Amino acid sequence: MNTSEYKRFLHICSKNVDNSAFELFNPISLVHLTFDDIDKLKNQASKIRQKFLDNIVDNLLLFEKNFTSKKGQINWCLSYEDFTQQLLNLLSNKKIKAVNAFSSAFTQELGLENILKNEGITPFSKENKCTILSPNLAVVDTASMFSVFDSGFEMELFLDSKIKIFILPINKFICNISDIHLFTHIFSIYNKNLNFPELSNIFTPLANEDNKETYVFIVDNSRSNLLAFKEQRKTLTCLDCGACKRVCPVYMSIKDEPYDNIITGPIANVMLPYLENYENHKHLSFNCLLCGNCQRICPVNIPIPDLIVENRKFFFENKILDFEDNLLLHGLRKFFLNRNKMNRRTWVKKYSLRRRLSKSTRKLVQIPKFSKHSFNQIQQEKTKHQ
Ligand code: SF4
Repeated sequence: MNTSEYKRFLHICSKNVDNSAFELFNPISLVHLTFDDIDKLKNQASKIRQKFLDNIVDNLLLFEKNFTSKKGQINWCLSYEDFTQQLLNLLSNKKIKAVNAFSSAFTQELGLENILKNEGITPFSKENKCTILSPNLAVVDTASMFSVFDSGFEMELFLDSKIKIFILPINKFICNISDIHLFTHIFSIYNKNLNFPELSNIFTPLANEDNKETYVFIVDNSRSNLLAFKEQRKTLTCLDCGACKRVCPVYMSIKDEPYDNIITGPIANVMLPYLENYENHKHLSFNCLLCGNCQRICPVNIPIPDLIVENRKFFFENKILDFEDNLLLHGLRKFFLNRNKMNRRTWVKKYSLRRRLSKSTRKLVQIPKFSKHSFNQIQQEKTKHQ
């Protein structure tokens, strides 16, 4: 879909915005069973994630120091290609021909299954010599990995394996182990709609365990592009819980397919232009009705609608939008900043604004109500009476 097709589509969605999604999926009621104050929980979780992000470089280096002191080995990978090469080198050095690779959104983003298959390595073997998984979070101060498992069998396979390989994006960390209990609840409530913690494990390598090896691949894969943007970088606190997708009226209609990406839903609308490229993903910033459902549900308070608006502003200011959209926005800007035009009668302003919009846009948007007098007129009136 291009931008105009999206806009037409959004028009249809906008008619269906209601809170029925909240009735079907309501983690808030579950949170109340476990925590007294949902806002307190969300603020706390947001602060914890933000604390790591505010000092991301030092925190990652501290994680490396703590992890290597326990005989773990870190591999830093800038891109997908970098990751592929380093992983295959490791597997070839260890003469590994079969692994247990647990699938997750991040392993899918990196195409782990295909990387292994193309090299003739069995990705889902019953042997438990080597497991590869992407934990839900890593902890800096103890160099631990927090992972949620679907079954006890999976967890056993993982714990028994001699070689454990963890794959993490640069942002999936928290600073202190004392905060992890909060996230065990958040993952089960927001991810699975359960009010008790899921089957999970906090793995910390032991320096004296000679027959076990642990490796961590920390992969950037364009996430550092987001660090340059003061507002949009907040998306890096995302936990991938998927809650925002379940309450988004647009996502519920379009689902994953139009994204053509593993990252989908409201958070993808903000992130993908920076993770992939502007040209093919700028239209996603218009893939939103700014209804605010996602922000209300998000356990780490990511202000997705505000970030969508930030994206639009950035694309407009940097002339990244389509010619037609740029022309329209420049015209509107000129119109609203023109004092003479704003001092005209209400119906004249309304008529002039309508004329600037194409027939199809007029169908999509509501013409705003103008006040009887502009600020300038009110000010003039005040000065006259002084
Ligand atoms: S942005 Fe969406 S997926 Fe990310 S933490 Fe918030 S609700 Fe979950």
